[in-house]
Amino acid sequence: MPENAHGEGTQYQETPHPRRLSIGPIMCLIMLCWTGTFAVSLWYSVGELEKHAMHYARIQARTAFEKDVTYRRWNSMMNGVMAPIVPGVLEPNPYLPAAGRDITTTDGVSYTKINPAFMTRLVHELGAMESGVIGHITSNMPIRKGNEPDPWEGAALKQLEAGLADEISGIEAINGAPYMRLIRPLVVEESCLPCHQFQGYTLNQVRGGISVSVPMKPITASMQNEQHRQAFAHGGLWGLGMAVIGGTMFRLSRSMKEHERDAELLRKEVAQRIEAETQLRLTAGTDMLTQLPNRRTALERLDMEIVRYKRSKAVFSLLLVDLDHFKNVNDTWGHEAGDKTLVVIAARLKSLLRGQDTVARWGGEEFLIILSETPEKSALIVAEKLRAGVEAVPVDIGTEQITLTASIGVAEFHPGRDVAFSIKIADDALYNAKKSGRNRVELARG
Ligand code: GH3
Ligand code: MG
Ligand code: MG
Repeated sequence: MPENAHGEGTQYQETPHPRRLSIGPIMCLIMLCWTGTFAVSLWYSVGELEKHAMHYARIQARTAFEKDVTYRRWNSMMNGVMAPIVPGVLEPNPYLPAAGRDITTTDGVSYTKINPAFMTRLVHELGAMESGVIGHITSNMPIRKGNEPDPWEGAALKQLEAGLADEISGIEAINGAPYMRLIRPLVVEESCLPCHQFQGYTLNQVRGGISVSVPMKPITASMQNEQHRQAFAHGGLWGLGMAVIGGTMFRLSRSMKEHERDAELLRKEVAQRIEAETQLRLTAGTDMLTQLPNRRTALERLDMEIVRYKRSKAVFSLLLVDLDHFKNVNDTWGHEAGDKTLVVIAARLKSLLRGQDTVARWGGEEFLIILSETPEKSALIVAEKLRAGVEAVPVDIGTEQITLTASIGVAEFHPGRDVAFSIKIADDALYNAKKSGRNRVELARG
């Protein structure tokens, strides 16, 4: 930990690294949303196509029914139509009264009457062969056996006759194949009565219906084609989107990494600069020989001490320590030995003081000591301890052990005194100590 100009440990606030935004989970989330959107859209489209197919089949069945009703009505309006009898192909309708049913023209061709029900059946047979759409005129009380309802028609007829519905439809299997089956009621009209009156039919009664069965196979096949097209379109668009998302995320991730690298370089550079600046500041405020704060730093500490004093009202004291006859050391053992001695004494003084005190190299072989929150009485005790400490242990210069002594001037800082004055009276006290024989402590008078 570097020491700052105030001798306190400096801690650089490490700029916390910005939390790294992780691209992976975000990309997964976006892709998931994109996939989800397409899945829902596809599911909806497929469902709609199925509904549409059912609707289409129902419309087809209704159209067939309407057509049946229309030509039945036309036939009825014509009071039946005559068609040439072709044995095995068109025989007279056995369910019509024989009287007036058949005629033979003057050129010998025989015609038979085709009433609405007969015509419906004939057309239905033709339709079933050609388009696969099965029409069936049916009733719960049929005159002709072939008009009996199948189970689905029977159940539907009951509901129609009870007036519970106007139309019944649904998907049913006929010979194992799916059909859209639709049945609508046939209302007893005037034209029905000649044949059906004997069954107790009355006008406007529902006494049967026409069922139409549309094969679902071609409709389903076309719907499935469309579903496949939709699936391909969705798949293509989904894949394109995924590629765009992936590409964008890749580029984003790369540029973020570059950005992080730049930021890291910048962080390192800033840290290096701070370190260099600190070193510079330390060098500027530190004595190179003893590594103690120098005179400039000592003066700054004094200013701080005054600020502290103003806050706490606890006085502090100054000591000026000067080594006795130091010139002799240089003269006798050389300048290098003198330097080493200064280093040893500086360290010793520091070791004898508290952490909050300051020992600075004031100049040459002279040290200024600031005793924080210490009145002169205590300062005198500390000074005596330092003096004794210097004298007690000789300094080892390699070739010899040199015993040194120090003279110390002590001055308490007073509110009325400024720093310069306090230093001066400490210096005066030091001078007195020198004058009085050295290796002693003197208290300032002022
Ligand atoms: P006094 O007891 O009166 O203080 O006598 P003194 O010899 O200590 O005082 P003087 O002022 O006559 O001499 C101080 C000496 O300290 C002179 C100088 O060579 C020596 N000195 C000052 N700074 C350094 C230094 O950085 N290294 C060395 N080796 N000697 C130094
Ligand atoms: Mg001196
Ligand atoms: Mg001296």
